[in-house]
Amino acid sequence: MSRIIVITSGKGGVGKTTITANLGLAIASFGYKVALVDADFGLRNLDLLLGLEQRVVYTSIDVLEGQCSIDKALVKDKRQPNLVLLPAAQNRTKEAISPDQMKQLVAQISENFDYILIDSPAGIEMGFRNAIVAAKEAIVITTPEMAAVRDADRIVGILESEDLEKIQLIVNRIKPQMIKLNQMISVEDIIDLLVIPLIGIVPDDERIIISTNRGEPLVLEEPPSVPAMAFNNIARRLNGQEIPYLDLMASHDNLMTRIRRHFFGS
Ligand code: ADP
Ligand code: MG
Repeated sequence: MSRIIVITSGKGGVGKTTITANLGLAIASFGYKVALVDADFGLRNLDLLLGLEQRVVYTSIDVLEGQCSIDKALVKDKRQPNLVLLPAAQNRTKEAISPDQMKQLVAQISENFDYILIDSPAGIEMGFRNAIVAAKEAIVITTPEMAAVRDADRIVGILESEDLEKIQLIVNRIKPQMIKLNQMISVEDIIDLLVIPLIGIVPDDERIIISTNRGEPLVLEEPPSVPAMAFNNIARRLNGQEIPYLDLMASHDNLMTRIRRHFFGS
């Protein structure tokens, strides 16, 4: 039985595609077979983030039109043999496919993969229904900004009226310094507002933007950076492990004080 999870949000630009790419690679590295489905028609960029745009020949539209088999449309990742991408067509509108067609596409691959992650357009846009209709679980992404949280709340409402097994939350782009100064809503406040369980927090980090632009998801980095650890931890939690949350609030100075205290008792 495959886990079919839609990665979604209310507001656009909060990190859905970035998170889909990094989680996909992390889960595949644990040995699971993973398919990433780009359901953001018209704005496809999951292929770019994965650095696979040169390999895209067919898209899900070609499959639905009978131009090619689904196996032909699936793009193999160049680094991770357990990972494939089902690309969306770029030159189509968001209404390019119907919810039934989306179900049909996912059904065709569900037997061959342990995890299917569906990258969705933002909830306020058309096409959102397509992305959620085939999923059994949802992960809602928000940033710690009031507008994003409010839009996330509307999406949670819609998701709750669907027949989903689980709805979980990722808070992306956390800036510890701003939370400390009370300039940003805290993760606790967001959980209180949305009332869905948290599965991860990701710091705001310019290395994520650099990796996005390079088409090299940063979860692959060795040694792993803090954001890479955050993605890895989320992948493990998704897979049922209990992993403590990174203490993003611990500044470097705090950490050094603690280490000194530990070793020198001061
Ligand atoms: P969405 O798919 O929700 O529209 P994207 O994944 O395309 O969002 O991300 C939008 C932009 O935000 C990208 O430029 C990406 O690099 C950047 N971004 C996402 N998450 C982070 C983060 N944690 N820190 C810094 N930049 C981020
Ligand atoms: Mg996106």
